[in-house]
Amino acid sequence: MLVREDLNVPMKDGGVADDSRVRAAAPTLQHLARRGARVIVMSHLGRPKDREPDLSLKPLAADLGKRVGRDVQFAEDCVGEPATSAVDRLQSGQLLLLENVRYHKEDEANDAAFARLLASLGDIFVNDAFAASHRAHASVVGVAAYLPAYAGELMLAELAALHRALDTPKRPMVAVVGGAKISTKVGVLRHLLSRVDALLIGGAMANTFFKARGWPTGAGLVEDTALDEAREVEKMAGGKLVLPVDVVTARKMQPGEALRVMDADKVEPEWMALDIGPRSIAQFRDKLRGAGTVIWNGPVGVAEIKEFADGTRAVGEAIASSAGYTFVGGGDTVAAIEALGLAGRFSHVSTGGGATLEYLEGKELPGIAILKDA
Ligand code: ADP
Ligand code: MG
Repeated sequence: MLVREDLNVPMKDGGVADDSRVRAAAPTLQHLARRGARVIVMSHLGRPKDREPDLSLKPLAADLGKRVGRDVQFAEDCVGEPATSAVDRLQSGQLLLLENVRYHKEDEANDAAFARLLASLGDIFVNDAFAASHRAHASVVGVAAYLPAYAGELMLAELAALHRALDTPKRPMVAVVGGAKISTKVGVLRHLLSRVDALLIGGAMANTFFKARGWPTGAGLVEDTALDEAREVEKMAGGKLVLPVDVVTARKMQPGEALRVMDADKVEPEWMALDIGPRSIAQFRDKLRGAGTVIWNGPVGVAEIKEFADGTRAVGEAIASSAGYTFVGGGDTVAAIEALGLAGRFSHVSTGGGATLEYLEGKELPGIAILKDA
């Protein structure tokens, strides 16, 4: 059984800095091993240019073993003799972790011969790497040309959550989108607008909407190349778009600065909006109260800095307290809910950063499309 997981964890000093992706992968592997499968696990780690030793998956074998509750063998390469001989030694119910698939540039190139070599290691392909499924790489997509492909448990959980939030939402359906750049999320905004009852915007992204309305934005982060897109999104939104009415400003994006709350349409020169203000928090709370479904992506302020985290904390708290179905996704958003002590209080926290965003854009992800075809 050849299983693609996303074990692309942050590493520090040769060890695993945050093992949430290992924990998320464990149920599928446990399940397969318990049923007596010979479980061969492949994953990427980082973006190695060649065989960078710092990006070896070897240190993860022990961690994975602990989470799964079984020994995990390791093969020094994902194809060739090290892989085939390790697979030959593997017994029913045992696990084998293959070395970083990205040590071979053929993985990202979705090279057919490389995919065939990977596929030759197993008899069935299980894609459990939701977080890598927006990539048409050999270990995610290519192998499915040679093996019957199925979804793993993490993949199924991610898809069920997205389906519930996007396709069969209990109404009212409210989305909160924040973060730095509108250009990276304009597809998400458009797609969500076709579904939601209200779209609340925070973060630096709001500045671009402010400027597009002709409001002064001081020294705040604005994407001047996205002003037309902001205008189009606002027009398309009808009355669904909710922008902050006030903002917390400082002169520099750093701790210890003097703070001032300003009306969103009156930000003074040299001051920058770094969080949503108290009236906006009240307005967002009001929209979130009674929501049947909430989708949240993007901190509404610079949540990494304590002084500018109040808005994200308050909005996160309001979503966490909601009786509706609550879906949270995005790398920085998930980091923020963990740092702010809100983890464990949402219906679903997605493990897919970029993959979740592409799904929220309404795109078909290649690593999921192959499962539908199978
Ligand atoms: P995610 O990874 O969850 O999709 P993003 O990457 O889009 O989220 O956005 C997170 C980033 O946006 C953080 O680095 C945060 O500091 C930044 N950000 C949020 N609000 C502001 C703001 N008002 N000014 C500058 N940066 C901001
Ligand atoms: Mg991010």
